[in-house]
Amino acid sequence: MNIIVLGAPGAGKGTQAARIVEAFGIPHISTGDLLRAAVQAGTELGKAAASYMDDGQLVPDDLVIGLVRERLSQSDTETGFILDGFPRNTAQAVALDTQLALLDKDIDHVLAIEVDPDLIVARISSRRSCPACGRITTAAEGAVCALCGATLVQRVDDREETVRTRLAVYAEQTEPLLDYYTRCGVLSVIDGDRSVDEVWADVRAALDDGGKS
Ligand code: AMP
Repeated sequence: MNIIVLGAPGAGKGTQAARIVEAFGIPHISTGDLLRAAVQAGTELGKAAASYMDDGQLVPDDLVIGLVRERLSQSDTETGFILDGFPRNTAQAVALDTQLALLDKDIDHVLAIEVDPDLIVARISSRRSCPACGRITTAAEGAVCALCGATLVQRVDDREETVRTRLAVYAEQTEPLLDYYTRCGVLSVIDGDRSVDEVWADVRAALDDGGKS
């Protein structure tokens, strides 16, 4: 099953994607995670991407499209994948369609998780990440990662003013994809302003619904 998870930053895409991985055993491809790994490793891609990310702007399409193209050519995607954070604009969606056509694949489901933007700023600014194991948690957990003991940090792009930029970029560039995927007949809109379990129940129902194929 080939799935895209759409939603503003902080909508809970990563949390629901983790549940899909558990339920369906398909890989989670998060362009944000891939880009952060490249930044941390100091690769050419990481160096080119870092300033865009810190400012809450989109990294140029050619860099991200190349990254996804390479990831989708790996054998673990043969039975399916979850794309999280990609595509982010119409050019990326068109490039993805082209790449999938070459691989004789299709998107089965697009899940759009919708959350009230006013709640997102509060949600993200309390978010903390573990620089060692990548775990995402909240400031309420304390200063250290419960899994590996490393000191938790706030991502630069999770600061309030950057979150507001990221929300504006989402509204302007990513939201038009809802129409794009509605026209493709694969879109399910999910109310994300509820508990993780309630959102998951709707995600599961949408995925069990058959999609396009
Ligand atoms: P995320 O973790 O998905 O919110 O992504 C964090 C940051 O990585 C974004 O604010 C962008 O700067 C960059 N990024 C992630 N995915 C993309 C993409 N598909 N296109 C352009 N930039 C991206």
